[in-house]
Amino acid sequence: MTSNVAYIGLGSNLDRPLDQLRKAIVSLSSLPQCRLLGQSRFYRSRAVGPADQPDYVNAAVRLETGLSPIALLDHLQHIENQQGRVRHIRWGARTLDLDMLLFGDCTMTTPRLTLPHPEMANRDFVLQPLLDLTPDLSLPDGRRISELRRQCPDNHLVPLEDA
Ligand code: ATP
Ligand code: CA
Ligand code: CA
Repeated sequence: MTSNVAYIGLGSNLDRPLDQLRKAIVSLSSLPQCRLLGQSRFYRSRAVGPADQPDYVNAAVRLETGLSPIALLDHLQHIENQQGRVRHIRWGARTLDLDMLLFGDCTMTTPRLTLPHPEMANRDFVLQPLLDLTPDLSLPDGRRISELRRQCPDNHLVPLEDA
């Protein structure tokens, strides 16, 4: 089996966010042809997008997978739906958001899936969990996550144990 290492970003700001993330990590760890390699700390961050939303809880996981990128996306969306994700307005509050941040060195732009995730370089709530998992991680184009983290805007990110 050819396998790849994928990084998944998790976010929730509705209906007990920390429990939503814990439950999603259990689901991710039991996906077919997948093995959970690690999980970041949990963070609290301010919502981006429409104002007046509760803070988010964010994390990331590192997954070894024999699935294709699209097959993995199908599973991520299924887990979101299982946890009651309802799609209203773009970037609105949600029980669970699972974004595929990186999939090996894969780069692609299709209507359903863009890799790496196009907004990751601007989001400290994505970059910091990735650094927890793999401090020397780089994008497929060679840019280092640690460098992007230094340059990225501040979303008032706080590790949950310090919140
Ligand atoms: P953002 O993508 O800015 O974080 P969002 O997570 O709120 O916003 P969603 O409504 O969850 O956006 O997803 C919109 C669509 O994005 C999905 O239907 C999915 O097909 C597509 N998509 C494209 N690339 C990715 C990716 N790397 N990971 C997850 N979804 C993706
Ligand atoms: Ca997202
Ligand atoms: Ca998403």
